[in-house]
Amino acid sequence: MLNVPAQAFPAPGSQQRAAAGGRSKVPLKPGRSLMDWIRLTKSGRDLAGLKGRLIEVTEDELAKHSKKEDCWICIRGLVYNITPYMEYHPGGEDELMRAAGRDGTDLFDQVHRWVNYESMLKECLVGRMAFKPVTVTTEICCAPPEEKKLLNGMLPKIKVLDTSSRDLTPSYEWFQTDYSVTVVIYTKQKGMNSEMVIVDQQDGRLRVDIIVKNYSYLLHIELNCAVQEDIAVRTSEKVGKVEIVLKKKDNIHWSKLGEPLESHKSFIRCTERGLYYRKCKLISKTEVTHDTKLFCLMLPQSTHLEVPVGQHVYLKQIIAGTEIVKPYTPVSFSLISDFKEPSHHDSTHLILMIKIYPNGLFTPKLDHLQIGDCISVSNPGGSFKKSQVQTLEDLFLLAAGTGFTPMVKLLNYVLTNVCSLRTVKLMFFNKTEDDILWKSQLEELTLTDKRFEVQFILSEPTREWKGKQGKISLSLLSEFVKRSKKDSKVLICVCGPALFTEQGIRFLQDLGYSKEEIHSFTA
Ligand code: FAD
Ligand code: NAD
Repeated sequence: MLNVPAQAFPAPGSQQRAAAGGRSKVPLKPGRSLMDWIRLTKSGRDLAGLKGRLIEVTEDELAKHSKKEDCWICIRGLVYNITPYMEYHPGGEDELMRAAGRDGTDLFDQVHRWVNYESMLKECLVGRMAFKPVTVTTEICCAPPEEKKLLNGMLPKIKVLDTSSRDLTPSYEWFQTDYSVTVVIYTKQKGMNSEMVIVDQQDGRLRVDIIVKNYSYLLHIELNCAVQEDIAVRTSEKVGKVEIVLKKKDNIHWSKLGEPLESHKSFIRCTERGLYYRKCKLISKTEVTHDTKLFCLMLPQSTHLEVPVGQHVYLKQIIAGTEIVKPYTPVSFSLISDFKEPSHHDSTHLILMIKIYPNGLFTPKLDHLQIGDCISVSNPGGSFKKSQVQTLEDLFLLAAGTGFTPMVKLLNYVLTNVCSLRTVKLMFFNKTEDDILWKSQLEELTLTDKRFEVQFILSEPTREWKGKQGKISLSLLSEFVKRSKKDSKVLICVCGPALFTEQGIRFLQDLGYSKEEIHSFTA
């Protein structure tokens, strides 16, 4: 299976697993695609096996359902009978069985917290975990009152800060003038920048998500009075202060900022924060190749969101009544024009380079969007950090097909900002010459920047192709990935189909590169 919906559970140590974060998929039987699953959930069959009843499940009861032919799991306090889903799971049955008869929330969050299981598994819902009357003695960080009850030792999770994050907890205050309201957040984090601040102001609600190391601090407030759409965000790097300026609609004095909403002032690991979506408008759609297009989406005026280099967002669409979510990596409008200065577009627009699969689940519907239509876009995700390239000397990029997308902003960034950089080499794998994304721009870049080299490798070339042929292999890589000098600081980024990434990482390890010198982009 080339490109399948997310597998719900990881399997450390499993044979199926791709190295260093790549996600392997198992071949599914015909008739077991995500679309087939959606059809089954709409068929009216009793998938939960309880004739429409919802029950309270004790830990003991849950544990009884731990076999393939009778399998229940708990995610965030809700229990699902996933027996009928087994054959449809892209990661295979064994992966799912790791959570059989128990709480699978952590396993699920480790890999695919973005998968909308509530929608996908709603017909399998058995009920919720029964409450266990236990008093919680640990420190609770702003958990809403209903979350303070311990659910049979299970979920929903109580937001407990561990000691390492406690002294990082941000604080906030606010002040007003006749025309504006300013919310000031003190993060105590040096190097705070605008990419770490995500603001949404909609229907009188303000939601501010601030990333402090791997934690997320949330302000979530029903504002006291009406404000205008546009917002301003200022960050001061040295002291870690963030200011959000809202414009009052009416010139009246506010007695308070507003009322707290769900999870206000919570400070939890980013991985535990659910994805938040806002609607973005499709502004333009332009062809890149015969099957790939650039989609330009405009963020709402009342949103501040910048996607960091190497990270992606999730798009959400309702397909056959089920919410489907897939990741996409923003690029820039072109490889070269944005080079000298960061574009103003970066904070107001998202440019996505998306390949349309005629028989795919998600992209044909995306392709049917008309200019002016809206689509839900999430906060950014991904593990890539700019610090990985800050003192780099050699950067090697191994991309296959649309696996080129994370390389676009990365190329922009390193060639403009990393002074120590000596070489950047891209090895770009495609089926045919017509599939190569931005071929002429890449060739032009080799002429304008002497540090940059590109090699195209085709797996299904025509007779006219004079360049290299084949797929990723040890011999190709051993020629290509060579340090520019002994002990030079190297990073090798790999992105493409799961098997491509898996093989690439294995070959690089065989060539002696360490885990820290290899990065694969994953959801
Ligand atoms: P799918 O339904 O997933 O189908 C894709 C292909 O697989 C089709 O050819 C289909 O026929 C085949 N297929 C589906 N099911 C089966 C099966 N059971 N057996 C055999 N073959 C099958 N893509 C981009 O274009 N641009 C990006 O910027 C981008 N960024 C990404 C970032 C991340 C972190 C990740 C993980 C993926 C990214 N992708 C990107 C891929 C993207 O998320 C989707 O997987 C892709 O758009 C396919 O979606 P689809 O639902 O239309 O196709
Ligand atoms: P494609 O099918 O057109 O293949 C492009 C090239 O990849 C092929 O020419 C071949 O050299 C190589 N390849 C394909 N299958 C392979 C295999 N099984 N083993 C070894 N090499 C193989 O590619 P596409 O349709 O553009 O798909 C791109 C893939 O990249 C998708 O699976 C997508 O999910 C993934 N992607 C991931 C990210 C990320 O950040 N993780 C970003 C964008 C795309």
